[in-house]
Amino acid sequence: MFNKFKQWRNQRILKNSTFTWDDWQRIAKQLPVLKRLDQAQQLKLFDLATLFLHYKTFSGAQEFTITDHMRQAIALQACLPILNLGLDWFKGWSSVIVYPEAFRRQNSVVDEFGVTHTSNANLSGEAWVRGPVVLSWKNTETAGELDGHNVVIHEFVHKLDMLNGRANGFPPMQRDMNPGKWSELMTKAFADFQRNPKQGLDRYGATNPAEFFAVLSEVFFETPGLLHDAYPEIYKLMTQFFLQEPMDG
Ligand SMILES: [Zn+2]
Repeated sequence: MFNKFKQWRNQRILKNSTFTWDDWQRIAKQLPVLKRLDQAQQLKLFDLATLFLHYKTFSGAQEFTITDHMRQAIALQACLPILNLGLDWFKGWSSVIVYPEAFRRQNSVVDEFGVTHTSNANLSGEAWVRGPVVLSWKNTETAGELDGHNVVIHEFVHKLDMLNGRANGFPPMQRDMNPGKWSELMTKAFADFQRNPKQGLDRYGATNPAEFFAVLSEVFFETPGLLHDAYPEIYKLMTQFFLQEPMDG
């Protein structure tokens, strides 16, 4: 009953949306990372992105003005990983904050050992457990160009990882997946990556298993062939997790 209601409500949201198919198409054309999607997949993504914009609030930090173009470009890339998973994978939080440029962390962070860290680095994005996703527009603007870097995919994949607690590179699995196998292969690949850099895979992924998963997801969607070359078993795992095969597109 509840699902029926949700479906009905979502249909209404889609019907009442001010964005047309042409609007979405125009923004999607500027994002090479979406080129592999066929028309049916594109339509599905446009609907998902429309619902995403309805349920999540966007706000600009430092008085930054967020345009429809920005909201749509972020929504399309944020929803790419959940194209076949559904919007429920983004439940439990509601806001996206956009800075004009790279930003400094506003709060200190307590790690799993209870140690508080204050970072001085300039960040291009950040995802908070049960909190907002934070993005720098300057870094977001160049996402989706098929260079293997995509801050939007990176931060929103952290959100999938956080569905079962702190980000640790171990998101909830699909029903037919073997969590033990995920752990085993990811741990093995992470240890290897810490020792051996791989072409096209950002070294930042060697920071910890959560960053490894986020960085590999960027590559999975942007330059899947490179992930397949470096870690064919991880590529396969990711096709089972995201229910997508970007290399075939
Ligand atoms: Zn990260």
